[in-house]
Amino acid sequence: MDDFYHLVIDALEKQGTAVFAPQFLPPVGPAHVYRRDVDQISKSDLLIAEVSHASLGVGMEIMLAIQLKKPILLFRHKDARPLSFMVKGADGTALFEYSDLSEVTNVLRTRALENMIVAQCPSCNSQVVEKTGAMMICAECRKKHTM
Ligand SMILES: [Zn+2]
Repeated sequence: MDDFYHLVIDALEKQGTAVFAPQFLPPVGPAHVYRRDVDQISKSDLLIAEVSHASLGVGMEIMLAIQLKKPILLFRHKDARPLSFMVKGADGTALFEYSDLSEVTNVLRTRALENMIVAQCPSCNSQVVEKTGAMMICAECRKKHTM
């Protein structure tokens, strides 16, 4: 799990993206953690979550991002236990299944994260697209559509 986040942070920082990764911050009290995470998600343009393992905290972060209309990229290992329908069916998400971490890097490298918005792809279940002018490119299936 740490490998996943180290890799994501590294890939994003190489692209010049500022990353808030609470899992690598020093331990503080529960109220502080809650307030800090809520504040940071509110300020973020995008949420990236690893959902191979059930986590109440990650689930709460995802729900907050949905409420704030932030695009959410979910990554899940192919061999993980079935994903909760509550997460799988959530608004504003694109889901990527991977068997090797290099596939995660590849997704992050080939997507214009700064252009991502919440919009339904007409071709697949993804609700995250990259907006470029009057065109949108699905974050998941990569099909192009006019907006
Ligand atoms: Zn699509």
